[in-house]
Amino acid sequence: MTSTRTESSMQDCIFCKIGRGDIPSRKIYEDDDVLAFHDINPKAPVHFLIIPKKHIASLAEAQPEDEALLGKMLTLVRKLALQEGCVNGFRTVINTGRDGGQEVAHLHIHVLGGPQPWK
Ligand code: C5P
Repeated sequence: MTSTRTESSMQDCIFCKIGRGDIPSRKIYEDDDVLAFHDINPKAPVHFLIIPKKHIASLAEAQPEDEALLGKMLTLVRKLALQEGCVNGFRTVINTGRDGGQEVAHLHIHVLGGPQPWK
């Protein structure tokens, strides 16, 4: 993707807007690289998303230079799941592309949990 296309995607991208704080979210974690917030339409008692602040459209667009960022996001899953009370496990989902059911074109990890039944 050219830098011009990336810049225009970032302007329009709802998760970039949430990452910049232009749109409010129920934040559970933030640092310079990553934001985690409760999903607006939860599918489980606990359902939050972890996003990179950098605009990466999907897992299919991630580049070798994103390796540390992806590792950071995955490492945060456990910490934040425990913080949100998922003491007996959790589900992680990364939808990728149209056939993967991805609706928001900004990479995100879904973390779902809480006492069953909810699946
Ligand atoms: O993986 P997929 O792209 O389908 O998931 C997008 C998720 O982002 C949905 O679960 C939706 O509820 C959530 N969402 C959100 N806040 C928004 C827009 C979407 O939590 N403002």
